[in-house]
Amino acid sequence: MSDTKIRKQGRAGHITLTRPKALNALSYDMCLAVEAALDQWRNDPQVDLILLDAEGDRAFCAGGDIAEMYQTGTEGNLDYGRRFWRDEYRLNAKLAEYPKPVVSFLHGFVMGGGVGLGGHCSHRITCESTQISMPECGIGFVPDVGGSFILARAPGRLGEYLGLTAARMGPGDAIHAGFADHYIPEAEWPTLKTLLRETGDAGLVQQAALPAPDSPLAAQQPQIDALFGGEGLADVLNLLRNDTSDFAQKTLKALGRNAPLSMAVTLEMIHRLRAMSNLTIRKALELEYRVSHRIMEHGDFLEGIRAAIIDKDRSPKWRHALDKVPAVDVSRMLAPLGKQALDFRENSMKIGFIGLGNMGAPMAANLIAAGHQVTGFDVAGVTVEGAAQATSAAEAAKGADVVITMLPNGAILRSVADDIIPAMQPGAVLLDCSTVDVESARAVAAQAAGAGLGALDAPVSGGIGGASAGTLTFMVGGSDDAFAKAKPLFDIMGQKAVHCGPSGNGQAAKICNNMILGVTMIATCEAFALADKLGLSREAMFDVVSTSSGYSWSMNAYCPAPGVGPKSPADNGYVPGFAADLMLKDLRLSQQAAEAADADTPMGKAAMDLYQSFVEDEDGKGRDFSAMLPRFEKRGRG
Ligand code: NAD
Repeated sequence: MSDTKIRKQGRAGHITLTRPKALNALSYDMCLAVEAALDQWRNDPQVDLILLDAEGDRAFCAGGDIAEMYQTGTEGNLDYGRRFWRDEYRLNAKLAEYPKPVVSFLHGFVMGGGVGLGGHCSHRITCESTQISMPECGIGFVPDVGGSFILARAPGRLGEYLGLTAARMGPGDAIHAGFADHYIPEAEWPTLKTLLRETGDAGLVQQAALPAPDSPLAAQQPQIDALFGGEGLADVLNLLRNDTSDFAQKTLKALGRNAPLSMAVTLEMIHRLRAMSNLTIRKALELEYRVSHRIMEHGDFLEGIRAAIIDKDRSPKWRHALDKVPAVDVSRMLAPLGKQALDFRENSMKIGFIGLGNMGAPMAANLIAAGHQVTGFDVAGVTVEGAAQATSAAEAAKGADVVITMLPNGAILRSVADDIIPAMQPGAVLLDCSTVDVESARAVAAQAAGAGLGALDAPVSGGIGGASAGTLTFMVGGSDDAFAKAKPLFDIMGQKAVHCGPSGNGQAAKICNNMILGVTMIATCEAFALADKLGLSREAMFDVVSTSSGYSWSMNAYCPAPGVGPKSPADNGYVPGFAADLMLKDLRLSQQAAEAADADTPMGKAAMDLYQSFVEDEDGKGRDFSAMLPRFEKRGRG
């Protein structure tokens, strides 16, 4: 139950927050419920406009519900907060960009998350009791939910003043600063709402509005501009300290309570946003999310909530002293997030993930971090933080938009496919990222197509390191439609996805690539062993070959000789990396495919035979595939 009342009345869609005892603090559920209503009414011809209001006398909405964020954050779970913010910011942008008028009725406290909800609508109405503020710096956070967008466009340096001090604005100030549009006494609201519902005409808001009350902040504007005109927090503090006026001293006191890092970051955010010639709310939200993403780990947010609402001791221990926030800490908070950046993607996908081994677990973790809902299953009982755990493969697959499999081989893939295909919903995509034989890939794809599902074979290169870093390369076989659906997931888990053609072609590309890799690694290792015997130093060998016609990925990027070239498993006692066992598996797949296709692959066959001896008869099992070098080192020709 989401503490919102959502209904259609007359020509209006009407959303009311119904959590007055908690000052209508916005929970995650409320956020999702409001978004769902907006989505539903966007193209509904019966809905001409949206009304957004709240029950109770004291607040439209006093902020986001941060208690749950505190609890999950202190338990080390950063994903909950990040997901909440991501979804909330998408809602903020949706409200700002909504194609129909949205009329918000902002009575009482409208703080933080409340501004995100009511402060970006097309018609924002204040009344006698309105008190709007962005109080985040007081709890070790920064103005978010699009608040920085309004602050950056406020007159003069008002944005800096309001963001840093968390000062409250009455109706006149809120209209002056750009947080609201109209002033209509609250007693008039019921009649206005009725008229809006009956007519669907948002123009009535303007007609009902009275002149905006005086704005004390407007009167203070010249002083605020002078005091908050500095580059950084230290400048602002200096200017305030050198001004003996009551206003300056009161302001200085307010800053003394707030988190120094938060204030320094807020200043920088406002400056950056104001300097943008094409500023949009999305750009502001994207910048805010850089901070949200990091604030629990690297900022004062958890300490700020502890002091304000958990222990209520009101004596937070901020990370920095007021005058001592290093510029580098500010830059770090605002550095781009790369793949984790806010992207306003519509509701996250439901993903079933089967096979959470060395590769599957980090791939699933990256999908969760990007905001997708993952349900995992592994016969070994492995779990991944943030994923729901299913008790069978079929359960993980049920209701999923995409089911990803990351399994040891084709036989296991076929048996898992038998279990999950009947459980999958029509239109869903089965995305197999395991390395398997081409025949199994094509058989599973045909079985999936027969059940009305999309299917992709998308084996990877990049190993466990690439799976963790989200830099895998996917080689993909299957239809254009299925590829398009899975593309956002490839973008999260990898750096590149090459669509190689119809089903099975991904596996074909993978085994051809790895056949080359197996052969070149052996060639590189035997050449090093020969060079040793000819008295050539390994360093000289690397320097020549890596820049001559013998170069390859095996030599240049993954050099099998310890201490030579870039860091590789050779420098770590040949701990894989990419295990010799897996190379043997892939070479066998290449030879199986070559048999079936009647292709002549003598070097591939020789590489397979060598890795087979190495893994099955020698000491290769569990070692990196580049450990062929110590193998050759020990041997003579006989
Ligand atoms: P892994 O053995 O670590 O993981 C496979 C997982 O599948 C295991 O956790 C296992 O318990 C689970 N599993 C087995 N049968 C299952 C079933 N019926 N239902 C559910 N789960 C089941 O292997 P990995 O290293 O993660 O490799 C997975 C795939 O990726 C393989 O096909 C491999 O060839 C390929 N691959 C691996 C690497 C690498 O460097 N490890 C690189 C590229 C490709």
